[in-house]
Amino acid sequence: MNNTEKFIVQKGVEHKTIPLICSWCRHIINVKEWEIERDKKISPDFGICPRCLKKISRSNKQLCKRQM
Ligand SMILES: [Zn+2]
Repeated sequence: MNNTEKFIVQKGVEHKTIPLICSWCRHIINVKEWEIERDKKISPDFGICPRCLKKISRSNKQLCKRQM
């Protein structure tokens, strides 16, 4: 073990916040904190917010009724 190795370990990881975006209405649902390798590009995560989830489950039910 030499000093250079220690330095690399400390430098390797970085804390970054990644937004979780609703892919239906494009609003930010939440923000997550991740440990990410330095120099690695971050991209937002996509999910669905409770509002859009309700909308979709409602329209799905209507579709089912029509198909019946
Ligand atoms: Zn939404």
